Amino acid sequence: MKIIADLHTHTNACTHAYSTIDEMVRAAADENLYAIAITDHGRAMEGAPGAYYFESLSLVPSELYKVKVLKGMEANIIDFDGNLDASDKLLSTLDWVVASMHTITLKDKPDVSKCTNAYLKVCANPYVHVIGHSGSPYYKYDYETVVKECVKTNTLIEINNATFTGFRKDSIPNCKKIAQLCKKHGARVVVNTDAHFASNVGKVPFALQMLSEIDFPKELVVNSSLDNLKQFLSEKNIAI
Ligand SMILES: [Zn+2]
Ligand SMILES: [Zn+2]
Repeated sequence: MKIIADLHTHTNACTHAYSTIDEMVRAAADENLYAIAITDHGRAMEGAPGAYYFESLSLVPSELYKVKVLKGMEANIIDFDGNLDASDKLLSTLDWVVASMHTITLKDKPDVSKCTNAYLKVCANPYVHVIGHSGSPYYKYDYETVVKECVKTNTLIEINNATFTGFRKDSIPNCKKIAQLCKKHGARVVVNTDAHFASNVGKVPFALQMLSEIDFPKELVVNSSLDNLKQFLSEKNIAI
């Protein structure tokens, strides 16, 4: 299996990522990707750009170096009611929204029922396409309940390659459990880099290795083929 689109990446619009949009898209072209989503952090993250940055993303070409460019955001889940740090109005202008929990932006003490509730609310948010890197043991949730809700609401669960490489390594066993439940219930996933530098764009070997270990079906990975991706985009009325 390989990916044909990288749908969670950051640029130097966030102060903790280090490449420009142009460099990220050029890297996607070098990896022969069909598409890339630029998903800089919502405003609750330290050093994140403000609303006007996202409102002005229409200035960025929708295709560059023959790669489709989705204008998006990694919104922060800021409480256990599943609220995000961006208005519906702003999110509705974007092509692609990943919603994630980060300890920097969700400081209340979690427990399984609170996290489950937050993710169920996120699933119900029509502007969210993906639940990002949700394997953290700190934000453990009822995986089966949320996976089933993802099927019902057509929300993707992300398998995030960065989880396997660095500071989120303790999430790996949970990522595997979540993927196994996605396979069991027919929930679709998206495999992304979460790249914060251009040289990482499109490279997801550890995520793919984990999926192959559990014999994960290719048809459930939306960015494993052009047909799969176009199918999902059309279901969500995303024109690129
Ligand atoms: Zn994140
Ligand atoms: Zn990210």
